[in-house]
Amino acid sequence: MRALPWLLLLLFPLTVSAFELRTDSQGDVVKWRREVAFVVDPSLGQLLGDATALEAVKSAIVELDDATPELKVTVKEGAVRGPGYELDDDAINQNEILALTDWPYTDGALASTVVTLNARTDEILDTDVVFNAEQHVFRVLTAPMAAARTFDDVQNTLTHELGHALGLMHNPKDERLVMYPRASAGEVGKRVLQDDDRDGLSALYGTAIATPEAPQPQMGCSSTGGVGAWALGLFVLGGLALRRRPAPVLVRVTRATRGAVVVLGVLVAASAAAQPVTPVGVGVVRAKVSHRSTSSPGLIVTSLDVEFESCAGAACERATRVTVPGGRLGELEQVVEHYPVPALNERLGLAKKNGRWVVFRLIEHRHAERFNALLAPGVVRSAAPQTPAQAPGPVAQPVVPAK
Ligand SMILES: [Zn+2]
Repeated sequence: MRALPWLLLLLFPLTVSAFELRTDSQGDVVKWRREVAFVVDPSLGQLLGDATALEAVKSAIVELDDATPELKVTVKEGAVRGPGYELDDDAINQNEILALTDWPYTDGALASTVVTLNARTDEILDTDVVFNAEQHVFRVLTAPMAAARTFDDVQNTLTHELGHALGLMHNPKDERLVMYPRASAGEVGKRVLQDDDRDGLSALYGTAIATPEAPQPQMGCSSTGGVGAWALGLFVLGGLALRRRPAPVLVRVTRATRGAVVVLGVLVAASAAAQPVTPVGVGVVRAKVSHRSTSSPGLIVTSLDVEFESCAGAACERATRVTVPGGRLGELEQVVEHYPVPALNERLGLAKKNGRWVVFRLIEHRHAERFNALLAPGVVRSAAPQTPAQAPGPVAQPVVPAK
């Protein structure tokens, strides 16, 4: 009988789904357990430069709502407060769709999604979708506009982000999918959920009754290689970027809110990385500590002491310290752009762009490939080791391992 599982695997090799679901840091799948009522900024159209943006938002909401029969997803216009989740008992939290003209998140990203969840109950509590109106020009594209490949489509972008908001991760295996991690200017293919996207939603919220196939836009991803992939690197946080947040959200650790997790998801433009990214080397995380951001208390950041093991071309320092978004304080955890902060002894690719560190997660195969191709057996300069990373202030706590 031991051969039975292998026999089944041979008989049904194609039944394995490719979608990936959002989990907390303990590996538990998380989902909504109540209606997701979005509030969209009435000035979204003005900020994005297209008065019909609100209609595109509603269309995207309908697409997701129709695919989640056990989850009601709605949207209405209303005043927005900015992304985040306040933890006071009297806090007013709402799921928001808005645009920022002063972009604080990953350079080049089309949009970001913030998801707050309770890691004990695995319930998503709150989400906010933010358009990058500083670095991208959005429109509700008509067919001729899409063909011109000049603007980014509002609905194409939002449908992808809503997938994150409801619990889907990226699927990099097929560029036609809504949850493919990158998009090109003029692309409208992500307006419509594909089978794999729907399968992921069905796993969370039941299977929708089959409807006639919606007409498929003729646009697809075509610019998916080249330097664009560098844009997927994680920018190391700087105080300036955080201070530029127009609506910093206070997140205080209270007994009522322990276990909450914040997740950021990003759809990166395929053409967003025209600026050069210079690989520096590959290093290993030797120490780390999470703490509150001093400039945005609602954010957790993690200081990493990285010891270089090889350098790209010229010699590099023996070690450096970088601070990345996300981390864990007690049971409160923030995950930025899909992955928890790097683990101890994890190997990272380090590069610089405009003088700032950019961290590449080598657990992503494409990044590992790129660094392996670029790295020469460089010389690691000997230097005095730094004191272990320490967090400022009394709120600092050691990173708590997952249970
Ligand atoms: Zn994404």
